[in-house]
Amino acid sequence: MQDLPYHQGERLKLVKEIERKGINDPQVLQAINKVPRHLFFGNSLAPHAYVDKAFPIAAGQTISQPFTVAFQTQLLDVKPGMKVLEIGTGSGYQAAVLMEMGALVYTIERIKELFLQTKHRLEQLGYRPKYQGYGDGYKGLPMYAPFDRIIVTAAAPYIPEALVEQLKPGGKLVIPVGQNDQVMKLIEKDENGNVKETDHGIFRFVPLLKNKE
Ligand code: SAH
Repeated sequence: MQDLPYHQGERLKLVKEIERKGINDPQVLQAINKVPRHLFFGNSLAPHAYVDKAFPIAAGQTISQPFTVAFQTQLLDVKPGMKVLEIGTGSGYQAAVLMEMGALVYTIERIKELFLQTKHRLEQLGYRPKYQGYGDGYKGLPMYAPFDRIIVTAAAPYIPEALVEQLKPGGKLVIPVGQNDQVMKLIEKDENGNVKETDHGIFRFVPLLKNKE
């Protein structure tokens, strides 16, 4: 488990590619340039880690496409020290990108196998989320609410009310909503608690599921 100059070179090419595709936030590009994506696979597909594609990980789930991770992260508008809740820990890659940006990360995963595997992985790589839990993301994380930012990394059939409730005034929620294809929604809560929703293109995610396993 190493990050070699070869990997760093491949990663820089990936960063240039997603920059060409429209990501322009230097903090986001820098974070993508830092996280060793090949160490988040846990399977034989690791040599493809710096191809801008989603790949299967354990338990029938996926590690999101780097462009999608960068897009969601840019839309989320994260500043150092912010409390960020992620729904769908998966491989831990998105969580690592958020931590590289200085976010205090709280993350939830509903598949126990993935939760355990990723807990171990993040520890080994020296990434320390504030909280990493096994549970149902539809409910958010009331114990640690409110959050500055919430990011959902699986396709939601609708916007869970609990997540909107758990946003601070001035908070933002980024969530892909839809069945086959999803619209990337940005929900912004103003200082008076009023909520505004905007659409930011079409993406494709694995579904946000209700029951555990
Ligand atoms: N952020 C991840 C992407 C993983 S794919 C990464 O960077 O690798 C989406 C993840 O959401 C899957 O691991 C899936 O098991 C998880 N998920 C699906 N429904 C969920 C729910 N209700 N609560 C929490 N996690 C959920």
